Amino acid sequence: MAKETHEFQAETKQLLDLMIHSIYTNHEIFLRELISNASDAIDKVHFESLTNRDILEGDDSFEIFLEPDAEAHTLTISDNGIGMSREEVIENIGTIAKSGTKAFMEQLKKAKEASESGENSTDKELIGQFGVGFYSAFMVADKVTIVTRKAGEKQATRWESTGDGSYSIEECEKEKRGTSITISLGKDFFGDASEENYTDTYKLESLVKKYSDYVRYPVKMNFTFEETPKDEDGKPIEGADKVKRVELRTLNSMQPLWTKNKSDIKDEEYEEFFKNQFHEWEKPMEVFHTHAEGSVEYTALLAIPAKAPFNLYHTDYEPGVQLYSRHVFIMDKCKDMLPDYLRFMKGLVDSPDLSLNISRELLQQSRELKTIGKALEKNILKALARKMKNKREDYEKFWNEFGKSLKIGVYNSMYAGSDTIDKLKDLLLFMSSKEGKLVSLKEYIERMPESQKKIYYATAKDKETIEQLPQMETLRDKGLEVLYLLDPVDEFCIETLREYEGKQFHSISRGDLDLDDAESQEVKKETEDIQKKNDDLMKDIKEALGDKVADVKVSARLKSSAVCLVADEAGPSLSMEQTFAEMNN
Ligand code: ADP
Ligand code: MG
Repeated sequence: MAKETHEFQAETKQLLDLMIHSIYTNHEIFLRELISNASDAIDKVHFESLTNRDILEGDDSFEIFLEPDAEAHTLTISDNGIGMSREEVIENIGTIAKSGTKAFMEQLKKAKEASESGENSTDKELIGQFGVGFYSAFMVADKVTIVTRKAGEKQATRWESTGDGSYSIEECEKEKRGTSITISLGKDFFGDASEENYTDTYKLESLVKKYSDYVRYPVKMNFTFEETPKDEDGKPIEGADKVKRVELRTLNSMQPLWTKNKSDIKDEEYEEFFKNQFHEWEKPMEVFHTHAEGSVEYTALLAIPAKAPFNLYHTDYEPGVQLYSRHVFIMDKCKDMLPDYLRFMKGLVDSPDLSLNISRELLQQSRELKTIGKALEKNILKALARKMKNKREDYEKFWNEFGKSLKIGVYNSMYAGSDTIDKLKDLLLFMSSKEGKLVSLKEYIERMPESQKKIYYATAKDKETIEQLPQMETLRDKGLEVLYLLDPVDEFCIETLREYEGKQFHSISRGDLDLDDAESQEVKKETEDIQKKNDDLMKDIKEALGDKVADVKVSARLKSSAVCLVADEAGPSLSMEQTFAEMNN
């Protein structure tokens, strides 16, 4: 068949146009996309060969080959995968059949418009998270040439396009089955002066390591070295002309740690992994390595780090797990997987069910992503509960590093309107007046006397301040336990909880202590009598103090102090008032 020229489908044209003129600057992902396509194609031929050995034509050493040519300014990516017939090339490369590509294009357009109108668009980052497929090659290419031969067929096909609206297609020869894609690099993408020189072997090597290290098939490339020849003893021969030595190297490690059997992995391997891949300095506090096959299949390798990063609660901290699909890296910080209160978790999720959705739908809408996230969240919470029960010391270590995240989580449940409170309330710890130790709410109510109806707490910057509060005296004398809320978040957390197992929280600096024992009842009655008798005196004092106080009362809560300030029953507590005041400054 003679050479033909075809117009791209309108939508394809649009995508190409956006791709070429894209404001999107993360060009390098084109390599990931092409390697991932090559790997998919090898998967396909491998799968077919299981029932039809002949299809391999004797070549079963699956591989992907990178061939940069600095002189010709080209980069060729070859595979011995399934290849494409002429019809398949037209079908797969010339049209956009994928629904998700449309969604992606809309995002790209939006980002483009935003950048033109000078807005600072966050969509730019969003786009980087999608698999944009074959067309991403046009981000760096002046021209793309595909030479492909379908396994089992004789005729090969050559496809070529400069991305300007049409492509040519013709018959050609190809000895090996599979596909070779040659990119004629645009002027910014070759040469030593370019920061994005895609003919530089070291650059390519680092990109493969970054994005495609866990691709199942070897990604190989020739490295050329100029060396002084050596004599028989291995010593360089002086004065001899340098010779070229070519070394074929495999760039990717291929076997992802998380795909190995758990029982075959040593602790140190996990440790190394989190150090290499997630910049951890210390051995993680706990590693979660799970594999699930159900409605959604996935493998997760997650860790609670040893230490909280200094900026964990600042806006510049980016939470999220890495996403892989069939061991191909898709996305770095996916924050839609785990709830925000687990923002400290590090690690990755690899799922074959994600690929379809991440490249074809908006990520946030992915049902699979949510299903996996829910399952992982459950696992992590269970593990934390277990730790708290069985390894209290370890749990307290965890709490000291990351407890704040859970407390903020409780507070934020107000907005999220979720069942977060139920998930987290039993994991909370607070400093207590008993032995100066951390206690859980469950422990607190389990040991409170029957007469005690409320969970008492006090807020201040430090323990000493609380212990000097006049109100503390009464409670201490009665042997009642008080939670010390020393972190401003503590009180927000308690305020959001309102109650635990039907027991309300009660600030000792707010209103009546509401003690229910006989002695207290008596004192209460006495106090009321005194209040009645001294009504006029109270009125006088209140008048004298004016706006400074809301009310003046006779109190039963004081022992050795003459007066104390208390917060209004319904109003904010004293320390919350302070926090608000600080926030408004
Ligand atoms: P996706 O990989 O998500 O399907 P792409 O745009 O990356 O989308 O690729 C489009 C299609 O082109 C693929 O589905 C496949 O059918 C075909 N294709 C791309 N690269 C290759 C290749 N190296 N070998 C065989 N087929 C390929
Ligand atoms: Mg692809």
